[in-house]
Amino acid sequence: MTIVDSVSTVTGTAGGPALVQERRLVTAIPGPRSQELIARKAAAVASGVGHTLPVSIVAGGGGVVVDADGNSLIDLGSGIAVTGVGNSNPRVVEAVTAQLNAFTHTCFTIAPYEGYVAVAEKLNELTPGDHVKRSALFNSGAEAVENAIKIARHHTKKQAVVAFDHAYHGRTNLTMGLTAKNIPYKSGFGPFAPEVYRAPLSYPYRDGGLGGADAAARAISQIEKQVGVENLAAIIIEPIQGEGGFIVPAAGFLPALVEWANANGVVFIADEVQTGFGRTGAWFASDHEGIVPDLVVTAKGIAGGLPLSAVTGRAEIMDSAMAGGLGGTYGGNPLACAAALAAIESYEQDGLIERARQIGSVLLGRLNALRTADARIGDVRGRGAMVAIELVDPATGAPDAALTAKVAAYAHANGVVLLTCGTYGNVIRFLPPLTIDDDLLIEGIGVVAEGLRAEGLATA
Ligand SMILES: *Cc1c(COP(=O)(O)O)cnc(C)c1O
Repeated sequence: MTIVDSVSTVTGTAGGPALVQERRLVTAIPGPRSQELIARKAAAVASGVGHTLPVSIVAGGGGVVVDADGNSLIDLGSGIAVTGVGNSNPRVVEAVTAQLNAFTHTCFTIAPYEGYVAVAEKLNELTPGDHVKRSALFNSGAEAVENAIKIARHHTKKQAVVAFDHAYHGRTNLTMGLTAKNIPYKSGFGPFAPEVYRAPLSYPYRDGGLGGADAAARAISQIEKQVGVENLAAIIIEPIQGEGGFIVPAAGFLPALVEWANANGVVFIADEVQTGFGRTGAWFASDHEGIVPDLVVTAKGIAGGLPLSAVTGRAEIMDSAMAGGLGGTYGGNPLACAAALAAIESYEQDGLIERARQIGSVLLGRLNALRTADARIGDVRGRGAMVAIELVDPATGAPDAALTAKVAAYAHANGVVLLTCGTYGNVIRFLPPLTIDDDLLIEGIGVVAEGLRAEGLATA
């Protein structure tokens, strides 16, 4: 980390100024300008819209974000797995600028344009499976999840939907119902949509290491007994659960669910909103398991920070809804489509999926080493640039949310954007932009290690 007194920049390769890739603290966090904004926020913005760091961000790129006081923070969150290609990725900036100058909106369902179709073609090509596919574009992950369920219901003429323990699918009414965790996502916001059922997950660290096939059999038995396939339109699952705690199911769990769904006329929906677009070191997390979902929901990493989401899947399912049944005013906005095409080009041309795998080995290597020396790290898990540690009481294995909050606060105060997650609030997740360099990544992990040390090393 360096201490300097002004925001310095170096010239980037694509014409714009690139940010110096360093952690740099020139004030306490929050500095005076950030404090001013946070005070205005409290007076103007609804309190339900929270914030993780009390900062006022003015720039971002590579592996850093810079605040209004000139502090440069290491970004280990990517705005929740969104800026995989980095903030203000030069390809994205150029494409969006050109689109901005051409036209900004027609409403695709009124007067179509090429960008939307090109994004659909790309999604059909990149998502798992070589069957004939169709895509539809929306604005947010939750909106795409809602549409995947709509489509599955229309196609199967059935109504029930199964989601899993620890699931997170969004904050709209239907997706709140699909989401597992009560506080902060659901409490007081009901009633929730009917015909949503929950099944047990595979959570190797907390289910005694139950094998994938056995965990699937347990879930399937519960679904058959409590819901019945004759009523079941779809099961929806994150291939690696995100907000629920970066839970990687045991090998074989997802393939067994897919096989059962296929055999029983149930639409299998993979919610790849957080795991998609190179994040896990493959285009989609489903690829690691060799599964071919009927429908894939994408958002977050798709468009370099512009709001875009999609449902992609088997043509016969996707085409079931009548014309006019899917859409929305802004879905597949031309700026967002231009951004997505440029972001996909960046994933493809700039080696970012390979980079996600390298980031994964750095993260897993260092975090496993920390775990060997610190029994409070109960588990290290994840794939590619989607890795987490679960913090526990070493004696009992009970989740330690208080320690997790303290380590995150330490990281924030010391210039690292670090996110937590997990049903029990005891998971620290690492989701750096794939454009972060190794030095920054290692420095960021080092700050987390310092934070753990500051809270006292557990005596095993
Ligand atoms: C973030 C997320 C969503 C919701 O996406 P929004 O764009 O916030 O509506 C849905 N599913 C998963 C797995 C997510 O991580």
